[in-house]
Amino acid sequence: MITDSFSFKKYLFLFFSLIFILPSAQKKFTIVLDAGHGGSDHGANRYYSELGTLREKDVTLAVVLKLGRMLEKSKDFKIIYTRKIDEFPSLTDRTTLANRSKADLFVSVHCNASTKTSPYGTETFVQGPDQNKTNLEVAKAENDVIFLDEKDRETFASYDPKSPESLIALKIQQSKYLESSLLFGSFVEGNFEKKNQRFSRGVKQQNLHVLRLNAMPSVLIETGFISNYEEGMYLASDKGQNEIAESIYDAIVSYKKAIERNGSIVNVPKEPERPAEIALKNDFRILLMSSPMKYNSSDPALKGLNYVLTIKDNDLYKYYYSVTNLASVRDNNLKTVKDAGFKNAVAISFVPHQKLGIGYYTLEVAVSDQKLSANSAVLNTLKDVIRTKEKGKFYYTYGKFSSLEEAVKVQNDLEGKGINNSVIQKISR
Ligand SMILES: [Zn+2]
Repeated sequence: MITDSFSFKKYLFLFFSLIFILPSAQKKFTIVLDAGHGGSDHGANRYYSELGTLREKDVTLAVVLKLGRMLEKSKDFKIIYTRKIDEFPSLTDRTTLANRSKADLFVSVHCNASTKTSPYGTETFVQGPDQNKTNLEVAKAENDVIFLDEKDRETFASYDPKSPESLIALKIQQSKYLESSLLFGSFVEGNFEKKNQRFSRGVKQQNLHVLRLNAMPSVLIETGFISNYEEGMYLASDKGQNEIAESIYDAIVSYKKAIERNGSIVNVPKEPERPAEIALKNDFRILLMSSPMKYNSSDPALKGLNYVLTIKDNDLYKYYYSVTNLASVRDNNLKTVKDAGFKNAVAISFVPHQKLGIGYYTLEVAVSDQKLSANSAVLNTLKDVIRTKEKGKFYYTYGKFSSLEEAVKVQNDLEGKGINNSVIQKISR
């Protein structure tokens, strides 16, 4: 993965002059192959006694060169490499090169690593949903001519880039890149799974710098975990690198065919209609862990998971991930948290809007070794905060609610007032 950053403004003009120029039918299908990292940036690395140090930058270059050789055999493809040797082109260089060459596809090859040795498998990233929003904001501020493909140009024959119609056109254009990226990503992951019997972690949306300013369908492929012994050996081997390159090659060929079938822009084939899933009676949350420790939402203990609801019950903090009344989503959520490392997570059912017979819910708004001053944000903002002292600590709670949903609602209101990291507490007496 990538931690570089780069100047946004500088490439704005280039970005807007190229983003909407689409390839004509005669042009060769141009692919930018980006071997992740390079030079002094080694990427992920692990020492194995069999191999010495296995470096991500070496694996990505080997895979890209193999893949490039396969593609170069066909006169239909034009290949552009961001690097062919052990050097480090900046992320800006990589993006600029891709945009200047008016490529049809941008493929960035990487290897994953985890602090643990157990995680393994492949995953492919496409631009995240927030990225669309950023691009749109930039577009609104720019008063430039935007080129659309032929069909869109008819639809939006004469327009002012600041008009609502052109924003719609822009949204359409951007969602098409995203759809195409998702389609290509699904081919790549499908091949890893079916042809190579790898474990696929799926196609995911994430805001990654290297994908951000590319004016073409773009993916970042994590070809496996360097930190996992078996996968490390596979990534280092000629056999493994060949299989990975072949799977990406086949995905490119399938993708090109799909594009040619459907015109210059692809729509992701719709899933066959399935009967609508019937909602369950209960809500399901995934219990990650119970702990005497209070973790805030950004704490590494929560392994980057969002949508974690904490409920304190009998001096234990219980951490729940997400909420749903659909069985398929529940099962998916459970898989997500197990992948994140919560191996003992379980789905817990909640009766919606259930009123507590005995006791109530309240919000623990602060815990402190010392008494809070009257000027503190919590005491200043909220009236009727209750203070209790237990084992030398001061606990501050606010409100009495008969259902969990009411407590969640007030908790959200408090966040609006700048009171974050409150915890819902269940009082059973
Ligand atoms: Zn990387």
